Amino acid sequence: MNLARHIEQYLPSPLLELMLHINAEAAERGETLYLVGGIVRDLLLSLSSPGPPTGLRFDLDLVVEGDAVKLATQAATTGRPRLLAHHRFGTAKLKYETFTLDLATARKETYERPGALPRVTPGTLKDDLIRRDFSINAMAMSLATQDYGELIDPHKGKTDLEQGLIRVLHAASFSDDPTRILRAVRYEQRLGFVLEAETAQLLEQSIPMLDAISGDRIRHELEMILREDRPELAINRLGELGALSRIGHILTGDDWLAASFDRARRLKRPAQLPAIYLCLMVYPYHEDEVEQVLTRLSTPAKLSRAIRDTLRLKGRLHLLDRPALKPSEVYDLLQEYDLTAIQASVAASDSPEVRRHLQLFLTKLRHITTLLDGEDLKRLGIPAGPHMGQILQTLRRARLDGEVSTRADEERLASELTQYRSPSAKQEGQGR
Ligand code: ATP
Repeated sequence: MNLARHIEQYLPSPLLELMLHINAEAAERGETLYLVGGIVRDLLLSLSSPGPPTGLRFDLDLVVEGDAVKLATQAATTGRPRLLAHHRFGTAKLKYETFTLDLATARKETYERPGALPRVTPGTLKDDLIRRDFSINAMAMSLATQDYGELIDPHKGKTDLEQGLIRVLHAASFSDDPTRILRAVRYEQRLGFVLEAETAQLLEQSIPMLDAISGDRIRHELEMILREDRPELAINRLGELGALSRIGHILTGDDWLAASFDRARRLKRPAQLPAIYLCLMVYPYHEDEVEQVLTRLSTPAKLSRAIRDTLRLKGRLHLLDRPALKPSEVYDLLQEYDLTAIQASVAASDSPEVRRHLQLFLTKLRHITTLLDGEDLKRLGIPAGPHMGQILQTLRRARLDGEVSTRADEERLASELTQYRSPSAKQEGQGR
C-alpha cells in the first residue's frame, strides 16, 4: 500500500515541507528515513473513517537507519528550530514554533530482566519496529526515493487496525516492559478496540510485574491516560483488570469518579486537567493511604501539594455549605489552598452551595485586589510593618464585600483604621 498521496493531504503543508527537508538531508548523507508510530496508525485510521480526519497530530516520529543526532544537527541549520540531542540514546528533538519532530536512530533493544530499562544498540528499521509495544504502533512509512510512501507493516498492524485489535508483538512484551499494560488499555479505550485474546491473557499474567516499575515511569503512563479525552474509560478498565490496585491499593474506577471527571472537564478554565483528575482519584481516601500512593508514584512536590491540599480542603468544605457567607469569608477560607485543589473540589463536591462558593472564589474573588498598595499607604503616613499588612487585608475584605469601591473610599477606611490604633502601637510603628 502506498500512502504518499494520503500523507500529503493529512499533514499541514509546513510540516510536510519540514519532513521533506529532513528527508533530503538524510538522502544526502546516504541514510534512509522513515515515518513511524502513532502518525502512521492515525493516518490509516483516518482513511477508513468517513469525513475529515480527527485527532490530527502535529508531532512526527522519524526513524533513521543512520545517525539521528548528526542528521538533526544538519537539518537544524534551516528554519532555526531548537535542537535537543541525546547522544547516549541516539535521539534528537527538533522544536519548531508549532511542530515538533522526534528523530531516532533505528535501534535494537534487549531486556536483561523484567521492568529494567532496555540495553540499546543501533539496528535496522526492522529491529526498531519489533521493539515496539503493539502491532498498530509498529508500522512505518518509507521516505526513501525508490519507495516513497510505501507502508512497512511486518507485524500486520493494518489488519489489526481493521479488526479493532490491540496485539503485542511477542509473548515477553508485557514482562519486558509492564508499563505496556497501561498503554494497551489506553489505546484499547481511546480507539474502542479490544485486546486480542492472547494479548489479554499475557497482560493479566503480567500485572504483578508492575511492582518492578519505578514510580516515575508508572506516573508518566498514568498521566498519558489522564490526557485522553475520557480517561475514566481506561481507569475503569484498569480497575477491572486489577492493574490499578496493583499500583496503589486504594485506586479504583467507579461511577462517582467518572461523574467527577466529567464535572472537571466542564470547569471554566481548568489549570491542569491531569492533575485535577489525580486529585479526584484519591479524593475519597484517608491521608495516610494517599501518602502511600504519592510515594509509590514518586509524585513531584507541586503535584503532591495539590493532592494534599485537596484532602485538607475536603475537611473544611462544610464551612462553605452556608448560603449567608460574605465574599470575604469565602476568600479567607480558600486563599491558602492550591488552585488545582480548589478546582478538584468543585468537581468532587455534591453540594451546589459549596460549588457555588468555590466557583465564586475561582472566577472572581481571587482576582480582587485593593486599589491602594503599600506605597500609597506610606504616603498616607502609615509606616511599613505588620500593621500595614493588617490594613491592606481589611481593605481587601471591605472591597470583596462591596463596602468600598473607589480609591477615596479606601483612603478614608485606611485613615479610620489608623486612628483607631492605640498611641503606643502608633509609636511602635513609627520606629520602623
Ligand atoms: P499517541 O501519542 O497517540 O498516544 P504515539 O504512538 O505517538 O501515540 P508515544 O507514547 O508518543 O505514542 O510513543 C511513540 C511510539 O513509541 C509508539 O507508537 C510506540 O511505537 C513506541 N513506544 C512508546 N512507548 C513504548 C513502550 N513502552 N514500549 C514499546 N514501544 C513504545
